Amino acid sequence: MAGIKTIGVVGAGQMGNGIAHVCALAGYDVILSDLSQDALDRGLATIEKNMTRQVSRDVITVDSMKAAQARIKGTTDIKAFDAIDLAIEAATENREIKEKIFASLCEIVPDSAYLATNTSSISVTRLASTTDRPEKFIGLHFMNPVPLMKLMEVIRGLATDQDTYDMAIALADRLGKTTTNAEDYPAFIVNRVLVPMINEAVYALYEGVGTVESIDTAMKLGANHPMGPLELADFIGLDTCLSIMQVLHDGLADTKYRPCPLLVKYVEAGWVGRKVERGFYDYRGDAPVPTR
Ligand code: NAD
Repeated sequence: MAGIKTIGVVGAGQMGNGIAHVCALAGYDVILSDLSQDALDRGLATIEKNMTRQVSRDVITVDSMKAAQARIKGTTDIKAFDAIDLAIEAATENREIKEKIFASLCEIVPDSAYLATNTSSISVTRLASTTDRPEKFIGLHFMNPVPLMKLMEVIRGLATDQDTYDMAIALADRLGKTTTNAEDYPAFIVNRVLVPMINEAVYALYEGVGTVESIDTAMKLGANHPMGPLELADFIGLDTCLSIMQVLHDGLADTKYRPCPLLVKYVEAGWVGRKVERGFYDYRGDAPVPTR
């Protein structure tokens, strides 16, 4: 297994900036890319905000924060990935978008570079098959928020070789993450269980079984969940939740996975959760206000 020194992260959104954050703190050089300078600046500002919070809680020192920030370079040009050792794709949950990204990466990154996807649900084997190196391709499914969550799900595609798997385990060790292995079936383990529960909560809202607040309170106090399912959906992103339900529905051909029409409507409205300050709750004021 070749040593990993430089990691390229595609997408500076919720997950991409979190992955860049933990990789830089662990001593890797990081190149973070997004489509626009605006998106990149937002991602870098989030890293700064989250690292500052870690400093104020004595999780990291000011010096390690500064050193980590100096290791992250932002770019809107994927050609900057020409000397990376590992690319981790964390762009929008859409198969066509991801396949295009991997096609560009294959033309730019060194032949020795590993490719990874942070997809929540799309087949790793299928994404790998569109690249020139399916044996060096793997699913590394980080959890949100990446700096806080301990788990990294590791998903081997059909062609992923042992060396690539060993690289993933060594990376997780250095990042201080615990791994679980999931087979490459739609949505793997965490989201196979979690997102249908969220979808069911949206059905409960849609059918008038409860309000946003009563559903979230019921699951927090009745099932001891730290966050209600609708609050959690806003946190994940309703677009991502819908996309995962569609992958489950298509991939497993079972009607029990049909996305709730109300979830579809929120996504159509662009009310996709915290990242746009509106979803099942409105986050634009001092305290979140339910939108239904
Ligand atoms: P997001 O919408 O916050 O960020 C996606 C980013 O990708 C955006 O900034 C977008 O501009 C960028 N992007 C789109 N096309 C691009 C391209 N061609 N090149 C570079 N950047 C591009 O979404 P997110 O929540 O960060 O999700 C990203 C990935 O991580 C998805 O595959 C998602 O399923 C997965 N994921 C999400 C969560 C979660 O809780 N949100 C958890 C685990 C995994």
